[in-house]
Parts: sequence; structure tokens; C-alpha cells
Amino acid sequence: MGEDFPRTLLELERRFSAEDACAEYLAALRWPDGWVCPRCARVDAWSVRRNRWLCDHCRYEMSVTAGTIFQDSHLPLTIWFRAMWQITSQKNGISALGLQRVLGLGSYKTAWAMLISCVGPWFALAGTSWMASSRWTRPTGAGRKRAPLAGERNSRP
Ligand SMILES: [Zn+2]
Repeated sequence: MGEDFPRTLLELERRFSAEDACAEYLAALRWPDGWVCPRCARVDAWSVRRNRWLCDHCRYEMSVTAGTIFQDSHLPLTIWFRAMWQITSQKNGISALGLQRVLGLGSYKTAWAMLISCVGPWFALAGTSWMASSRWTRPTGAGRKRAPLAGERNSRP
């Protein structure tokens, strides 16, 4: 999938306006080589209800959000995707208050929980594409020498 991530807000709005589109994107991230049944390892599955896949062989059913930060959320994926966007596209990150405002979330607590839960796991899930390409990856300052601290001697002449 590599570079397949929304670069602009307009692109995000166009691509991820529906739950299905979000679920499909997640599925492609989770199973880049196609869906594999975690129980019987077969690859034939039906996309049944919203966000859910059903193994054609052993009837194992799993959600595309199982094991992710979205699993127990009552918020739709469309909101989550917008949160991701807001978090990853801001040069200096975004505050919970800012997130609450732009997404029209009911409470600051929700926005805060969202912010916290997005950062870590999203790296793991989408880190290879979206996050890696975003400005969230900050410059490390590699190559820049730090000034010696007081009392610290410079070993070089
Ligand atoms: Zn199966």
C-alpha cells in the first residue's frame, strides 16, 4: 500500500466519508496480502456486516477493528479517521481541546482519550504508511552537536 494515504483534508473527506470506506482502508492496512482467517488460515472470506468478515470455510467472524484502538469505541470510524488526520497533519500536534472543537465532540474527556489512544497504537497499525509519511515524525536533530554541559569537559582538543 505504501503511499496510499490522504494528503489533504479534501482527499480525506472524499475518500473516507463513509464507514465502509474507512473499514476497507483498515482492512488493507491489516491484511496487505489479503484476508487470512486467524483460525483456519484460509483466505476466502465474505465481507458481511459493517466492518466484519466471515470465513467461508470455518465461519469464523471477525471485525476489521478487532485488536485495534477502534474496537470498543462507540464513535464511528469516520470520526476516528478525522481525528487521525487532525493529529498527524498538524505541525506541532493538536491539543485535546482543538480536537474536541474541530470534530465537534461532546466532551473534552472524549477528545483527550482519543488523542491518547491514537498516538501509540496508530503508529503500530498505520505506521507504515500514513503516519510514516506525515509530519508527526519529527526531526531528530541528528548530525547536530549538542553544546557541552557545565562541568562537562570536551575531550577533543
Ligand atoms: Zn476460517
